[in-house]
Formats: sequence, structure tokens, C-alpha cells
Amino acid sequence: MLTMKDIIREGDPILRQVAKEVSLPPRQEDVETAKKMLEFLIHSQNPEMAQKYHLRPGVGLAAPQIGISKRLIAVHVTDDNGKLYSVALFNPKIVSHSVQVTYLEGGEGCLSVDRPVPGLVPRYAKITVRGIDHKGEKVELKLKGMPAIVFQHEIDHLDGIMFYDRINKEKPFEPPAQMALYR
Ligand code: ZN
Repeated sequence: MLTMKDIIREGDPILRQVAKEVSLPPRQEDVETAKKMLEFLIHSQNPEMAQKYHLRPGVGLAAPQIGISKRLIAVHVTDDNGKLYSVALFNPKIVSHSVQVTYLEGGEGCLSVDRPVPGLVPRYAKITVRGIDHKGEKVELKLKGMPAIVFQHEIDHLDGIMFYDRINKEKPFEPPAQMALYR
């Protein structure tokens, strides 16, 4: 099983690379990786497991964060209505998004970042994501709220983008009017 020892931390160049598409149908090796990533998130949200294995709770993980530069993400998160999104996706793509932007009031965190980075991270309020699940089947998800934010954070990892790249350096707490990348 994956533990925090397997999580690549900021400063490692792999987190800045554009990850490669996964060849489809997914190979057994890639399916195993997807399952391990999702399992890590589920364990990390289980207080007993988290304490036993010293896991930081996480709602999303991208393959580059475990040292694999491939387009694969896992998400395990519940929306405001209690609906659980628990999925691993190969080659996830945002195929459409709202004009409206949103953000988490407390900012974002990342398993690869061991320090708080204050500031608001603009995200599209609504997105439609397409990808291939661990069974090799096409998936389309229409997302808003927390799940939409988590998927955008994870898909950014596949393009070498960290959440803090999107924080306005001059005015980190100014509510974002539009989607922006401040580098
Ligand atoms: Zn992250």
C-alpha cells in the first residue's frame, strides 16, 4: 500500500512535467496503480488507518505525486449533498466549463506541499470531465462545488501546475473575478 513515503514533495521536477497519456485500454500495471491511489485516499480518510500509518488526509491524488508521470488521477470526495465521488480516471480531460469562477474560502492544500500556502485559488464553478475508468470504460462527470475543485486541482498536476501558481501574488485574498494563472 502507498504511504506518505511514496508521496513526491514539491521541489521534485516530476511535479513540473506534463504527464504522458496512458495507452488504452489501460495495462494491468496502470490499473494496479489507479487502485493503489484510490485506496490511499480511502485509507487517509479513515481515522484509524490514518493514525496507524501516519497518513495525511487527502481527497485527490495524481500519478506524478507518486513519481509516475502519466495522466492518471484518483478522487475520493463527497459533495454538499452527501454524494460520494470515488473514482480513478485515465487521461481525464475538462471538455467544458462554466464562465463562473469559484474558490475554497480557506484556500487549497496538497499532499505534495508540507506548508500552508495562504490565498484563494480560482477554479471553474462547474466542469464536465471525461476520462476512462479502471475498467477501461468511458466516464463523463458533470461536477460543481468541492468535487469540481478537486478534479481541477488533480488535472492541473498532470500539466505540472501547482495550486499556488493560480494564487494572485499581489492580492492573494482578493476574490478572483476570472480564472488566472500567476507565474
Ligand atoms: Zn495536489
